[in-house]
Amino acid sequence: MERPRCPVCRARLASDPTCGRCGADLRPVMTLLVEGHRLRSAARRALREGAAARARDLAREAQAVAASPLGARLLAVCALALAAEAPATP
Ligand SMILES: [Zn+2]
Repeated sequence: MERPRCPVCRARLASDPTCGRCGADLRPVMTLLVEGHRLRSAARRALREGAAARARDLAREAQAVAASPLGARLLAVCALALAAEAPATP
């Protein structure tokens, strides 16, 4: 998985709260990344528990907070699980 980049200079982020290249304060970005991770973890847990609608909502919120390609795939999986739950139309 590709590491996130500094929103100012596009350098790859390390664990340092300040960008090593441009000196930007990265704490707000890191807070969003952590929140996105937390929401995706909760979405995966909801999927395992069979709560597809809640999983989709959590995955959608994660993408709004900190979008990632893996988050997009998780959202697609949640949408498929939700569609599989829907009653068949006559
Ligand atoms: Zn930077």
